[in-house]
Amino acid sequence: MKGKQKKSWRERAGQAVCLVLLCMVMAGMLFSGKEVIGISAAIHHSKGQEAREGEKGENSAGQKVAYLTFDDGPSVLTKEYLKILKEEDVHATFFLIGQQVDGDLVDVVRQEVKDGHEIGLHTYCHVADKIYCSGAAYCQDLEKTRQCLETKLKISPKLFRFPWGSTNSYVRGYKDSVVEEMKKEGLGYADWNVSGEDSVGCPSPDSILSNVRKDYLKYDDPVILLHDSAACKSTLEVLRPLIQELKANGYSFQTLSERERPCHFGEKQ
Ligand SMILES: [Zn+2]
Repeated sequence: MKGKQKKSWRERAGQAVCLVLLCMVMAGMLFSGKEVIGISAAIHHSKGQEAREGEKGENSAGQKVAYLTFDDGPSVLTKEYLKILKEEDVHATFFLIGQQVDGDLVDVVRQEVKDGHEIGLHTYCHVADKIYCSGAAYCQDLEKTRQCLETKLKISPKLFRFPWGSTNSYVRGYKDSVVEEMKKEGLGYADWNVSGEDSVGCPSPDSILSNVRKDYLKYDDPVILLHDSAACKSTLEVLRPLIQELKANGYSFQTLSERERPCHFGEKQ
């Protein structure tokens, strides 16, 4: 009996030790689990921070706003772009080719204005040898586009976009004089900081999406270059998924004149 009692005491002592050890192991696991979660969150935070601090462009309100811009329209596809933008309740900016407005697509531009999109000038004919043979030639080309929009639609755009951007090799020698000249007309220029690379050949919707993805998260106010020309339907196909992805990442949308500062190559964008 005494032996049995002693054994029982040893058993209880052994069980107590086991229980203490078990608690210690469980507490250790719990603590180490929290540590891992904490480190993981810190890594994610630091990655986000890095992206935000990358090239920068946080607006003063600290909000994320994407600026969709479409060059080279209007085209026979533009109405389909407008339908998607309306359904997604998104406003964008269209940099137009004047001779296409002078054709039978003026009603499409009228719809762009009616839907609340911004209209900018791009060029009248988009033929490099013609428009870029001198600064004066490009100014004349823009002026022709401006007059076309003013006459047909009674609108006066505030922005223009150089075909191939403001640092292309054609305009290098006289860009500043064009910018000065246009400033007198109340026009500023706008480049972009994210490109879908959708104007050469006919890239797949996936490649357009991945071109935009690789850069837009670097900015709180990305200016995204796309095209609504008739040359390729891929941009149209990718438009809704792109808008939905931007929305899911916390971006709202505005037209380019609403941006706090212009987007110029070679300057803080
Ligand atoms: Zn263009």
